[in-house]
Amino acid sequence: MRTAKKSFAHPPGLWQRLMESFRGRRQKLVRGDRSAPLLLLSYPPGSGAEEAALELEACYTHTLPALSDALARRYAPMWEHLPAVVVVLLRPRSACGCLGHHHPRGTESGLARRLQTELGGSTGEIDLAYEAIRRWQPLPLSSLASAELGDRLAQLHFHAALLSVLVHELEHMAFPQKPERIVRSGSNEFYGMLMEELVRAESGAVFGMKESRRES
Ligand SMILES: [Zn+2]
Ligand SMILES: [Zn+2]
Repeated sequence: MRTAKKSFAHPPGLWQRLMESFRGRRQKLVRGDRSAPLLLLSYPPGSGAEEAALELEACYTHTLPALSDALARRYAPMWEHLPAVVVVLLRPRSACGCLGHHHPRGTESGLARRLQTELGGSTGEIDLAYEAIRRWQPLPLSSLASAELGDRLAQLHFHAALLSVLVHELEHMAFPQKPERIVRSGSNEFYGMLMEELVRAESGAVFGMKESRRES
Protein backbone atom coordinates (compact mmCIF):
# COMPACT_ATOMS: atom_id res chain seq x y z
CA MET A 1 0.00 0.00 0.00
CA ARG A 2 2.62 2.43 1.08
CA THR A 3 4.81 1.77 -1.93
CA ALA A 4 1.86 2.23 -4.21
CA LYS A 5 1.18 5.57 -2.57
CA LYS A 6 4.71 6.75 -3.19
CA SER A 7 4.89 5.55 -6.76
CA PHE A 8 1.68 7.36 -7.44
CA ALA A 9 3.29 10.71 -8.18
CA HIS A 10 3.38 10.64 -11.94
CA PRO A 11 1.60 9.01 -14.68
CA PRO A 12 2.26 12.07 -16.85
CA GLY A 13 -0.86 13.75 -18.10
CA LEU A 14 -3.10 11.15 -16.49
CA TRP A 15 -5.29 13.61 -14.64
CA GLN A 16 -5.62 15.79 -17.68
CA ARG A 17 -6.74 12.81 -19.75
CA LEU A 18 -9.19 11.70 -17.08
CA MET A 19 -10.74 15.11 -16.79
CA GLU A 20 -11.17 15.21 -20.54
CA SER A 21 -12.53 11.72 -20.91
CA PHE A 22 -15.33 12.05 -18.39
CA ARG A 23 -17.07 15.08 -19.73
CA GLY A 24 -20.60 15.45 -18.54
CA ARG A 25 -19.43 15.00 -14.97
CA ARG A 26 -17.04 17.25 -13.16
CA GLN A 27 -13.94 15.99 -11.45
CA LYS A 28 -12.07 17.53 -8.56
CA LEU A 29 -8.90 16.25 -6.97
CA VAL A 30 -8.64 16.67 -3.24
CA ARG A 31 -5.39 16.07 -1.47
CA GLY A 32 -5.62 15.33 2.25
CA ASP A 33 -3.11 14.86 5.00
CA ARG A 34 0.06 12.77 4.53
CA SER A 35 -1.46 9.36 5.16
CA ALA A 36 -4.89 10.03 3.69
CA PRO A 37 -5.64 8.92 0.13
CA LEU A 38 -6.08 11.35 -2.69
CA LEU A 39 -9.80 11.79 -3.36
CA LEU A 40 -11.09 12.17 -6.89
CA LEU A 41 -14.55 13.69 -6.50
CA SER A 42 -16.83 13.12 -9.47
CA TYR A 43 -20.15 14.92 -9.61
CA PRO A 44 -22.82 16.12 -12.01
CA PRO A 45 -22.82 19.76 -13.13
CA GLY A 46 -25.03 22.07 -11.08
CA SER A 47 -24.76 24.28 -8.07
CA GLY A 48 -25.96 21.73 -5.49
CA ALA A 49 -23.31 19.19 -6.46
CA GLU A 50 -20.66 21.90 -6.74
CA GLU A 51 -21.47 23.10 -3.23
CA ALA A 52 -21.32 19.54 -1.86
CA ALA A 53 -17.93 19.00 -3.56
CA LEU A 54 -16.55 22.21 -2.01
CA GLU A 55 -17.89 21.27 1.41
CA LEU A 56 -16.35 17.82 1.18
CA GLU A 57 -13.06 19.38 0.12
CA ALA A 58 -13.16 21.64 3.20
CA CYS A 59 -13.92 18.60 5.40
CA TYR A 60 -10.98 16.69 4.00
CA THR A 61 -8.37 19.43 3.77
CA HIS A 62 -9.23 21.55 6.83
CA THR A 63 -11.39 19.74 9.37
CA LEU A 64 -9.90 16.24 9.16
CA PRO A 65 -6.26 17.29 9.74
CA ALA A 66 -7.35 19.57 12.62
CA LEU A 67 -9.48 17.06 14.57
CA SER A 68 -8.98 16.83 18.30
CA ASP A 69 -6.95 13.83 19.44
CA ALA A 70 -10.08 12.18 20.81
CA LEU A 71 -11.66 12.22 17.35
CA ALA A 72 -8.56 11.59 15.25
CA ARG A 73 -7.70 8.51 17.31
CA ARG A 74 -10.92 6.80 16.26
CA TYR A 75 -9.94 6.49 12.62
CA ALA A 76 -6.15 6.44 12.99
CA PRO A 77 -5.76 2.71 12.22
CA MET A 78 -7.75 3.02 9.00
CA TRP A 79 -5.51 5.23 6.86
CA GLU A 80 -2.73 2.77 6.14
CA HIS A 81 -5.26 0.22 4.87
CA LEU A 82 -6.67 2.47 2.20
CA PRO A 83 -5.58 2.66 -1.44
CA ALA A 84 -3.64 5.63 -2.80
CA VAL A 85 -6.67 7.06 -4.59
CA VAL A 86 -10.37 6.91 -3.75
CA VAL A 87 -12.98 7.93 -6.30
CA VAL A 88 -15.96 9.60 -4.59
CA LEU A 89 -19.10 9.68 -6.71
CA LEU A 90 -21.36 12.45 -5.47
CA ARG A 91 -25.07 12.29 -6.23
CA PRO A 92 -28.04 13.99 -4.61
CA ARG A 93 -29.68 10.74 -3.51
CA SER A 94 -29.27 7.05 -4.07
CA ALA A 95 -32.09 4.89 -5.36
CA CYS A 96 -32.01 2.70 -2.23
CA GLY A 97 -32.12 5.66 0.16
CA CYS A 98 -28.66 5.03 1.67
CA LEU A 99 -26.34 7.89 2.58
CA GLY A 100 -23.41 6.23 0.86
CA HIS A 101 -21.85 2.95 -0.22
CA HIS A 102 -18.47 1.40 -0.51
CA HIS A 103 -18.10 -0.24 -3.93
CA PRO A 104 -16.32 -3.56 -3.62
CA ARG A 105 -13.76 -4.49 -6.25
CA GLY A 106 -15.43 -5.30 -9.54
CA THR A 107 -18.39 -2.99 -9.03
CA GLU A 108 -16.64 0.32 -9.60
CA SER A 109 -17.51 2.93 -12.21
CA GLY A 110 -15.68 3.36 -15.51
CA LEU A 111 -13.73 6.20 -13.96
CA ALA A 112 -12.38 4.05 -11.12
CA ARG A 113 -11.67 1.14 -13.47
CA ARG A 114 -9.74 3.42 -15.77
CA LEU A 115 -7.69 4.69 -12.83
CA GLN A 116 -7.05 1.15 -11.67
CA THR A 117 -5.75 0.18 -15.07
CA GLU A 118 -3.47 3.19 -15.24
CA LEU A 119 -2.25 3.00 -11.64
CA GLY A 120 -2.01 -0.74 -11.25
CA GLY A 121 -4.88 -1.33 -8.88
CA SER A 122 -4.33 0.97 -5.94
CA THR A 123 -7.71 2.67 -6.10
CA GLY A 124 -11.08 2.33 -4.42
CA GLU A 125 -14.51 3.85 -4.89
CA ILE A 126 -17.39 5.03 -2.75
CA ASP A 127 -20.53 7.08 -3.39
CA LEU A 128 -22.09 9.71 -1.18
CA ALA A 129 -25.69 10.96 -1.46
CA TYR A 130 -25.25 14.57 -0.45
CA GLU A 131 -28.91 15.64 -0.24
CA ALA A 132 -29.76 12.56 1.83
CA ILE A 133 -26.77 13.37 4.06
CA ARG A 134 -27.97 16.94 4.47
CA ARG A 135 -31.35 15.64 5.65
CA TRP A 136 -29.93 12.90 7.86
CA GLN A 137 -30.68 13.47 11.51
CA PRO A 138 -28.70 11.07 13.65
CA LEU A 139 -29.56 13.11 16.71
CA PRO A 140 -31.85 16.06 17.23
CA LEU A 141 -29.99 19.26 16.47
CA SER A 142 -31.83 20.84 19.37
CA SER A 143 -29.70 18.74 21.69
CA LEU A 144 -26.68 20.73 20.55
CA ALA A 145 -28.41 23.90 19.81
CA SER A 146 -27.22 27.10 20.58
CA ALA A 147 -29.98 29.40 19.47
CA GLU A 148 -27.49 32.08 18.49
CA LEU A 149 -26.12 29.91 15.67
CA GLY A 150 -29.41 29.90 13.78
CA ASP A 151 -29.02 28.69 10.19
CA ARG A 152 -25.35 28.15 10.71
CA LEU A 153 -26.23 25.05 12.71
CA ALA A 154 -27.61 23.39 9.58
CA GLN A 155 -24.34 24.15 7.77
CA LEU A 156 -22.30 22.70 10.62
CA HIS A 157 -24.53 19.62 10.52
CA PHE A 158 -23.95 19.18 6.78
CA HIS A 159 -20.20 19.53 7.27
CA ALA A 160 -20.05 17.05 10.18
CA ALA A 161 -22.43 14.62 8.47
CA LEU A 162 -20.49 14.61 5.18
CA LEU A 163 -17.25 13.88 6.99
CA SER A 164 -18.88 11.18 9.15
CA VAL A 165 -20.37 9.36 6.16
CA LEU A 166 -17.05 9.67 4.30
CA VAL A 167 -15.08 8.04 7.13
CA HIS A 168 -17.86 5.45 7.53
CA GLU A 169 -17.49 4.33 3.89
CA LEU A 170 -13.69 4.51 4.03
CA GLU A 171 -13.75 2.28 7.10
CA HIS A 172 -15.75 -0.33 5.15
CA MET A 173 -13.12 -0.11 2.42
CA ALA A 174 -10.22 -0.48 4.87
CA PHE A 175 -11.82 -3.26 6.94
CA PRO A 176 -14.36 -5.08 4.75
CA GLN A 177 -15.00 -7.71 7.44
CA LYS A 178 -16.03 -5.21 10.09
CA PRO A 179 -19.79 -5.54 10.74
CA GLU A 180 -22.07 -2.68 9.72
CA ARG A 181 -23.37 -2.17 13.24
CA ILE A 182 -19.83 -1.53 14.59
CA VAL A 183 -18.91 0.78 11.70
CA ARG A 184 -22.19 2.62 12.07
CA SER A 185 -22.08 3.13 15.82
CA GLY A 186 -18.50 4.41 15.42
CA SER A 187 -19.44 6.93 12.76
CA ASN A 188 -22.56 8.05 14.65
CA GLU A 189 -20.46 8.72 17.74
CA PHE A 190 -17.91 10.49 15.58
CA TYR A 191 -20.69 12.70 14.21
CA GLY A 192 -21.96 13.59 17.69
CA MET A 193 -18.51 14.46 19.00
CA LEU A 194 -17.58 16.42 15.90
CA MET A 195 -20.82 18.43 16.06
CA GLU A 196 -20.11 19.28 19.67
CA GLU A 197 -16.63 20.46 18.76
CA LEU A 198 -17.80 22.47 15.76
CA VAL A 199 -20.63 24.08 17.70
CA ARG A 200 -18.31 24.93 20.56
CA ALA A 201 -15.72 26.44 18.23
CA GLU A 202 -18.38 28.36 16.35
CA SER A 203 -20.07 29.68 19.49
CA GLY A 204 -16.68 30.88 20.70
CA ALA A 205 -16.14 32.62 17.39
CA VAL A 206 -19.62 34.18 17.40
CA PHE A 207 -19.03 35.78 20.75
CA GLY A 208 -15.39 36.53 20.14
CA MET A 209 -14.28 34.55 23.13
CA LYS A 210 -12.35 31.40 23.65
CA GLU A 211 -13.67 29.01 26.17
CA SER A 212 -13.06 30.18 29.64
CA ARG A 213 -15.30 27.74 31.41
CA ARG A 214 -13.96 24.44 32.51
CA GLU A 215 -15.44 21.26 31.09
CA SER A 216 -17.31 19.32 33.68
ZN1 LIG B 1 -27.95 1.43 -0.54
ZN1 LIG C 1 -22.11 1.06 6.39
